[in-house]
Amino acid sequence: MAMVTTVLYAVWHFNRQIPGLRLWTLSYLCGFVFTVVLLLRDQLPEWVSVLLAQGAVGLMGYLCLLGGRAYMGRGRLWHGYGVAAIVLLVGASAYLTVVQPNFGVRFLISSWGSAAFYLLTARILARGGLQAFPVRYLVALSAAVHGVFLLLRPLVFRLGDALAPGVDIVLALPQLIVLESIVALVLIGFGILMLTNEFTTSALRRLAEMDSLTSVFNRRAFLTLLDKALSQARRTESELHVLVIDLDHFKRINDTWGHKCGDDVLRHFVGLAASCLRMEDVMGRLGGEEFAIVLPSANAAGAAAVAERLRALVASQPAMTEHGPITLTVSVGVTQCAVDESSETALQRADQAMYRAKELGRNQVHLQKAPDAVVGV
Ligand code: GH3
Ligand code: MG
Ligand code: MG
Repeated sequence: MAMVTTVLYAVWHFNRQIPGLRLWTLSYLCGFVFTVVLLLRDQLPEWVSVLLAQGAVGLMGYLCLLGGRAYMGRGRLWHGYGVAAIVLLVGASAYLTVVQPNFGVRFLISSWGSAAFYLLTARILARGGLQAFPVRYLVALSAAVHGVFLLLRPLVFRLGDALAPGVDIVLALPQLIVLESIVALVLIGFGILMLTNEFTTSALRRLAEMDSLTSVFNRRAFLTLLDKALSQARRTESELHVLVIDLDHFKRINDTWGHKCGDDVLRHFVGLAASCLRMEDVMGRLGGEEFAIVLPSANAAGAAAVAERLRALVASQPAMTEHGPITLTVSVGVTQCAVDESSETALQRADQAMYRAKELGRNQVHLQKAPDAVVGV
């Protein structure tokens, strides 16, 4: 417990931005307090050691749950329920030690209380898809197995007692319980360290792939995704369309209202574009005020319709800025990707179509057919 707590503390010390890590460190600190109390059991009056141990165990489970919630970005919990659960746990333990000593019931209450916290932690963590977040599911599984064991261990005790009173199995049970706790808690501790790695890796990936101003993919990530979409379209022999969108006379907005206002307008445009797209559509910022969108499941008519809808929406919805509403328009180039062409070539053709739309007077959509489309139209 001391080792896991120290490692978690060290990792938290250098990575304070990782949500949940502080709470998990405190949870293991409670585990450490519990083991110390266990070691000093003979030196302390029974009621003191029971209260300290039960308090530490309850708090350990609750903090583990809070850590899981914080990591998964859940809102803050109203502590009333948690505090009530721990007070109830400690109160019942005190009653069953001092007033009406009953080790069996005390053991049952303490086991089930902790079990609830670990099972809830497992439920919170097992989200987001196994493929995308395998570590979360691994930690959730460890917490769930520990929770189920905590649920069952009072029954195992009774079973052992009933089947073979006074025989070896009964003597072995406390050791089994201690062993399970050590294995489960060390496993969960390792899992938490792996979660910190998952968090850092995805934060770095986000930083490398996303445009920080508008939160859509940057040019490099977009081209990679376009390549993937192209090979998928080739495999499934389906159509793939790409749109290039450029804001009209954007320089004027910057020159008139300032760069910050220009940034607001860019974000406003991305918000509007997102409302026109489906889940599978991918949007990227190619640079400056130029964006691109891949439409994997649209035919030519569908792609043109999306482009026109977006153009009309942008023209009708001014950006609300600190300088008042600013009307903007976009020119859109649409093209279908051809067999065996690179993402760069397809994008270039969409770009040419967009420039043609500019030449034709801006605030319009221009379509350019591919020489040899993936599926002929
Ligand atoms: P056109 O209709 O021909 O596209 O005219 P335009 O003014 O939109 O195009 P131009 O290429 O002349 O100007 C683009 C401007 O976009 C120039 C640049 O300062 C501005 N810009 C590029 N990136 C950003 C950004 O991140 N924020 C802001 N506010 N402005 C940007
Ligand atoms: Mg422009
Ligand atoms: Mg431009």
